Amino acid sequence: MRAVTLVAHGGLEQLGVRELPEPTIQAPNQVRVRVQAAALNRLDLFVAAGLPGAEALVFPHVVGSDGAGLVDQVGEAVRQFRPGDRVMINPTLSCGECPACLEGEHSLCDRLRVLGEHCAGTAAEYVVVPAENLAPIPPAMPWAQAAAFSLATLTAWRMLVTRARLEAGETLLIWGIGGGVALAALQIARLIGARIIVTSGSDAKLDVARGLGADIALNHRKTDVVAEVRQHTSGRGADVVADSVGEQTWTGSLRALRRGGRLVVCGATTGPMVSLDLRRLFWRQWSILGSTLGNRQEYAEIVRHAAEGRLWPVVDRVVPLSQALAAFERLARGEQMGKLVIEVAQ
Ligand SMILES: [Zn+2]
Repeated sequence: MRAVTLVAHGGLEQLGVRELPEPTIQAPNQVRVRVQAAALNRLDLFVAAGLPGAEALVFPHVVGSDGAGLVDQVGEAVRQFRPGDRVMINPTLSCGECPACLEGEHSLCDRLRVLGEHCAGTAAEYVVVPAENLAPIPPAMPWAQAAAFSLATLTAWRMLVTRARLEAGETLLIWGIGGGVALAALQIARLIGARIIVTSGSDAKLDVARGLGADIALNHRKTDVVAEVRQHTSGRGADVVADSVGEQTWTGSLRALRRGGRLVVCGATTGPMVSLDLRRLFWRQWSILGSTLGNRQEYAEIVRHAAEGRLWPVVDRVVPLSQALAAFERLARGEQMGKLVIEVAQ
């Protein structure tokens, strides 16, 4: 089969479209999916560069955490899917046996792994995953959107709904509105009925964000985001700030946060090391929350919203497998507005 594979760590130059043997079902609960489309995430760039704990990767490594396709074969214990079913893939691989898994908190699993990060991913003609990681694709949802749905939407849902407990009427600040998680957060915040402030360095992206329901769209290259947030909140600051940017936005996130506000972090694109004045933390009674992926109940909830047409990923562009590298480069340059999708089946 053809697959986008990494032959060593060291960045995008190690990626290429190569021939690999097809994966086979190894356990009774597994399903082999014939991938129709795979979507990129910033995680893929980190995997290419080499993440801590990546020593165990077997090269050539198939990248990709998001995908959608047709069920091709099922293990003997699989009852809920049959060959030919249209499915999308939840990339959260949990053990099912540790205390967190038994409590239904799969993203807190002691042995949490992510498809495409710790094992062979979706950017290939076939991928093998546990049946619990599959969901039926809403009939109206095309392959590209189905491929783009899971990781970003699940991450944004847990971040805003479960962790930050964003409520109707509250003000949410989202930094960097081009990425998949930020755009999913925008849609989820609309569902909740929050007031949404987004930022971008691109006026074109801000226009799209307004069309998607952002109440206030700020160009962070041209305006003082913190001052604007304060002005739009009667000087108080935002109730919730969603930040996946990291070092570049950390100070601004805290300055834009109201007393008693919640800062929720699900990424560190510009770097992971920040500082914090503990006096401000306790005096302002901030909550600083980490969030990653989501549990199966949260996944079922976002799939239900998708089936009812309320959560629908924004796709930047779809490229054939042969042009996958160009899509990774676009992602690395941060030019995308929405998800980049690789059409795997021709
Ligand atoms: Zn577990």
